[in-house]
Order: sequence, then structure tokens, then C-alpha cells
Amino acid sequence: MRMSKMGVRPEKQPPKDAEAINHKLLVQAGFINQEMAGVYTYLPLGLKVLTKIEDIVRKHMDKVGSEVLMPALSPKENWEKTGRFQTVDVLMKTVPANEPSRLKNDSEYVLSPTHEEIVTPLAQKFNLSYKDLPVAFYQIQNKFRNEPRAKNGLLRGREFRMKDLYSFHANEEDFKKYYETVKQTYLDIYKELGIGEDTYVVLASGGDFGKEYSHEFQTLLSTGEDVIYKNKETGEVFNKEVAPEDADNKEKYDTFKASEVGNIFTLHSKYSDAFGYSFTDSDGARKPVVMGCYGIGISRLMGVIAEKFADDKGLVWPKSVAPFSVHLIDIRQGELSGKIYDDLTNAGVDVLLDDRDASPGEKFADADLIGCPLRVVVSDRSVAAGGVEIKARGGQESQICKIEEILDKVK
Ligand code: ATP
Ligand code: MG
Repeated sequence: MRMSKMGVRPEKQPPKDAEAINHKLLVQAGFINQEMAGVYTYLPLGLKVLTKIEDIVRKHMDKVGSEVLMPALSPKENWEKTGRFQTVDVLMKTVPANEPSRLKNDSEYVLSPTHEEIVTPLAQKFNLSYKDLPVAFYQIQNKFRNEPRAKNGLLRGREFRMKDLYSFHANEEDFKKYYETVKQTYLDIYKELGIGEDTYVVLASGGDFGKEYSHEFQTLLSTGEDVIYKNKETGEVFNKEVAPEDADNKEKYDTFKASEVGNIFTLHSKYSDAFGYSFTDSDGARKPVVMGCYGIGISRLMGVIAEKFADDKGLVWPKSVAPFSVHLIDIRQGELSGKIYDDLTNAGVDVLLDDRDASPGEKFADADLIGCPLRVVVSDRSVAAGGVEIKARGGQESQICKIEEILDKVK
């Protein structure tokens, strides 16, 4: 992408109202734009990162489920069936302007905060025999929750992006096996995203199933909203909400701040019962379908990765999710840098070309702010020295590379 044509440019200063690091940097660098509290537009650079995260998640999820796209807008009746129309306090209910009298100002629709209310009747329509089970549907989609404290940039949105997966099984045993597979799949995903070492499987509250645990995936983050306790001896990690009584004992537990980037749940037959979803087992008996649900916070992950790796100059993206691999800076060498841009792009390398009419200082500062892994500079000086200047984001040293060797070097 050519920055001169991007339609968006980095700002000199972070937005005044921003508190969180990810919010400040992502807005200043031109990745996102805040439309209102907790609601953002993904600009060209931000959409690149979001898409890379989604592609990694999708690649792994395709091994455990089939992708669908459910509607964001869902019928009120489904939420009444599960009782959640009244109990979910962050539920976004909508009143269509052209039907207010029929509805007496009550909402007809819900902007979904999660999708059990759609996916359960969907699975029920197609999978009614033990031969059809297990089955799992996943999607990557926007969720709506009227979060009271949407102040942390992408860490807490009111409209945010989530990968949600729902599985349906003939019995608990089969469910448990699948649950463990998904747990491992999640760890593979966080590893590929570049946060594997700092992401723990954490015991957390089981939601509706009080005595049981759910498993959260918590990434260490000094500004995270959660507190987790790691037992030094057993390695077990607990969310504060289910931590043992002696969790404050510093000799026994390490305490960390973290951000929840995923959560997997046992649902038993709570939702299948609500929709009367049973199946015919091999012995001919009707039995309730056993369910699990599994979420990954896609947009929160973007915020966590931005916030976790940032330094005092700006964003520092891991290779796997960087908006571009190479940030090519042109300093009055338009023709040559254009050719390098074309060659690299044609060879399949993601390149952001700074071909704007701006000072070298501004271009260098913006490259640091944007945070692509490699910076390549084409200038009179680099050409006189034998080629282009290459430097890793976060690295100290730059080196000169011959023009014809750039592709090898970059790869
Ligand atoms: P939290 O405790 O942070 O409010 P949650 O437990 O209510 O999150 P889940 O219902 O488990 O969230 O949703 C699955 C995943 O979606 C979470 O693990 C998190 O990564 C992400 N997520 C949840 N709420 C938000 C939000 N408001 N903004 C961005 N991501 C979110
Ligand atoms: Mg959760």
C-alpha cells in the first residue's frame, strides 16, 4: 500500500481523551478511529492487523468446526426462551422507528452479545440423530454489549469482534474430549499470534454452573483488567474470582495482571433444553444434546498485542500480525523506491511505501509509530553507500543491503 493513497495519516499526538496505551497508539498511528465510547472504525492499517489475526484463528478453527456467519440482529422470542431477554444487563435491545406502536416501545430485536440463541435452533434443524453428532459451528463476527466501562480502547468495546464456536454432542464424555482439543487449539493460536509464552490457561467461574470451572486464556499485561494467581508449586493458575483463600500468600503464589483473550465453557444441556433440542441415540432413546461454547476476543487481542509490545516510540507488531512486513521509506528516490516496492510486492512481500511529501524525520517517526517489523530506507545516502538501509523495529543497528539482495534479506 502507498501511504500517499491510504486516505488516512498518523497524527502528531495521541487523542486527548484516551487513557489506555492501545487506544492512544492505535488512534495516533491511524489504525482505528473512535466513533463513540467502545465503538471503532478499523482503518486500512488496523483492518490489516485484524484480518491477519482472524486468518490465523480461522486456519486453526477450521480443524475443529465449520464456519458460518450468523446474523447480528436476532429475534426477541429466542432470548425469551432462554430467559436471557430479562437477565443480561448489557443486552442491546432495538426499537424500530417504523413499528413503535405495535411494539409499545418494547424491542423486537436483540443485537447479539453471544449466539447460543441462534446457533442452538440452527443445529437442531439439521442434526437430530446420534449419527449427526458431534457437530460444531463457529463464526467471526461483531458482538454488542453495552459495557458500562468501555474506556480501554480495543480491550473493552461495546461493539467488538469475537470468534465464537459452539459444539453439540451426544454425551458428556464426547464433549469433554472435544473441549480438551479446543483448549489445545487455542494455545496453538496464541502461540502463532506471538503471545504464547505469556498466555495461561486459567481456572475461572463456570458462569451458570456454579460449582464448575470454565477455562480462561489470560495474557499477562501490566494494564490488564484481571488479576490471576499462579501456584508456584503446581503451576495451576486461578482467576481472582475463584482463587483459593491463601492466594495472597506471596510464598505460595505469584500474582499477575492479565487480560482475558479467550474463554471456554461447559454448557451441559442448558440451551438445548431451552429450545427442546434432543436427538435420537443409537438405542432409540431421546436424549438432550450436550453443548459447549468457546470464545476468542479478536479485537481485544489486537489491543492486547498493541499494548503489550509497544515501546516509547510506538507500536511493535509481532511478524505474524504486523500490518505489513516491510515499511519502505522513500527519501527523494521516487523511481527507485517505486521499483523496489513493485518487486517486493510482486514477490508476495507485504510492503507499506511511505511515498508522502513529508520530511525524513516525520517518516522515520511514523515508521516507529506504526511498528512494522522491518524498515527499509531508500535515500541518496543509502544509494551512495551501495543500496538501501535496513533496520528491524526495536533493533539498534541498521545495515546497508544491495538492491538486488533486498528480497533475500527481507525473507
Ligand atoms: P470480560 O470478563 O472481560 O467482560 P467476558 O467473560 O464477559 O469478558 P466472554 O463472554 O467470555 O467475555 O467472551 C469471550 C471473549 O470475548 C472474552 O474472553 C474476551 O476476550 C472477549 N470480550 C468479551 N467482552 C469484550 C468486550 N467488551 N470487548 C472486547 N472483547 C471482549
Ligand atoms: Mg469470559
